[in-house]
Amino acid sequence: MTHSYDLAIVGGGLVGGSLACALRDTGLRIAIIEKAPGPANPGQSSPGQSGHQQPKSGQSSYDERVIALSLGSRRIFSGMGLWPAIAPEAEAIRQVHISDRGHAGLAHLSATDEGVDSLGEVVPARAMGAAIEQALADSPNVDWLRPGQVVSLSLSGEQARLEVMLPDGHRSLAANLVVAADGGDSRLRQRLGIPLKDLDYGQHAIISTVTPEGTDAAPGTAFERFTSSGPLAMLPMTRGRYSVVLTALDREVPAIMGLDDQAFLARLQQRFGQRLGPLTQPARRVAYPLRLRLAGQLTRARFALLGNAAHSLHPVAGQGFNLGLRDVAELTDLLVEAQSTAADLGGPTLLNAYQRRRRADHLATAGLTDGLVRLFGLPCPGAQLGRNLGLVGLDLLPPLRHRLARRFMGLEGRLPRLARGLPPISPAFARWAEQSSGGPA
Ligand SMILES: Cc1cc2nc3c(=O)[nH]c(=O)nc-3n(C[C@H](O)[C@H](O)[C@H](O)COP(=O)(O)OP(=O)(O)OC[C@H]3O[C@@H](n4cnc5c(N)ncnc54)[C@H](O)[C@@H]3O)c2cc1C
Repeated sequence: MTHSYDLAIVGGGLVGGSLACALRDTGLRIAIIEKAPGPANPGQSSPGQSGHQQPKSGQSSYDERVIALSLGSRRIFSGMGLWPAIAPEAEAIRQVHISDRGHAGLAHLSATDEGVDSLGEVVPARAMGAAIEQALADSPNVDWLRPGQVVSLSLSGEQARLEVMLPDGHRSLAANLVVAADGGDSRLRQRLGIPLKDLDYGQHAIISTVTPEGTDAAPGTAFERFTSSGPLAMLPMTRGRYSVVLTALDREVPAIMGLDDQAFLARLQQRFGQRLGPLTQPARRVAYPLRLRLAGQLTRARFALLGNAAHSLHPVAGQGFNLGLRDVAELTDLLVEAQSTAADLGGPTLLNAYQRRRRADHLATAGLTDGLVRLFGLPCPGAQLGRNLGLVGLDLLPPLRHRLARRFMGLEGRLPRLARGLPPISPAFARWAEQSSGGPA
């Protein structure tokens, strides 16, 4: 027996799960094939990193990471109706302080200068995962197939065909569109032979959480500090904590991971300085290898790449998930539009529009992120002088600073409905659905 869906999403992490959430009220039938098992017991909760009760999930996407969400991403979560569930775990970023360690250059971005309440929000990935799980648990048209793996895929014909291996045997699916949101090592991208630009930065990001004691920094201040070993970000969290994203060269990683807590704090303090006062209470450290990956194509017949499966970035500017959420917002607009005109959800018109509308943002965001890593990674004195002048110039030139802030806030260019904080179903579509079903949509 073949189970028929409008959409099959492979990978139910932050990006795949968000797409399903965005579409959960459209009536589209959605399957999410996720390789990790679901929460051990959906009714049971366990304390998250923050001490709040959050469902336990085995998914790598909902791990210890703490994400700097842009203002645009916050609007997308509001449009999806998820922000109220996430907000208690979110700390607003009111200003960003950018500096080059040991040099005079300094730049500030501020919410007040940009005329917004906050430049973004700092949120634990687990809190977003919990909100996504909860919203999907209440969505009858979304089926989780987990732990599941796609064992065969055919994209020719009127519908894509997938064979999925589940604990109780194989299941055959048919879908109008297959979306791969299965992360940076995407098996589906590899299976389809989609070309990939892949660059190893020779660095890891080591993450942790600390609590500064006696800081006089203004509430909501995020720090981006460039040092000779790579960038160091300190992001404000709820209850006075700071999330640490420490970039280290590969060869330094075993030594840093092996330090005891006091030695780690001393190392961090030495690299960050005293702007937040003494740093205390370090949480568990986790290290992630850093690469730049960009898929050469975003689509094939009845197939689209989304999130890290399409682009994995260095976390220096906190842009990876924000970029993936903008993929979600754009694809949601296109699918809702196609649904309202009874067009083919996996047809070339929709897929060409997705590729065209997302490509420029991918290239610009990857280019900006990679440029920062390279510029601030260059050890020569000429480069140091250049970047200090650059930071001073950025601080002194409001139009340039404004442009950069708008990009980091995810507000540049044409914005899909969700990125404007609007729900995915347009009023015109709601009217159409009401007329065709004889009742309210
Ligand atoms: C240290 C660090 C800090 C970061 N900070 C920020 C930040 O501040 N701001 C920001 O915007 N971004 C940040 N990012 C980037 C962000 O974490 C990623 O962009 C985001 O997690 C990508 O989500 P995703 O769902 O596309 O992929 P993933 O999170 O990798 O999720 C993929 C999902 O697919 C599942 N899967 C994998 N393979 C298969 C398969 N074969 N079949 C079925 N399912 C499969 C996985 O189990 C997982 O659930 C950071 C990244 C790192 C490493």
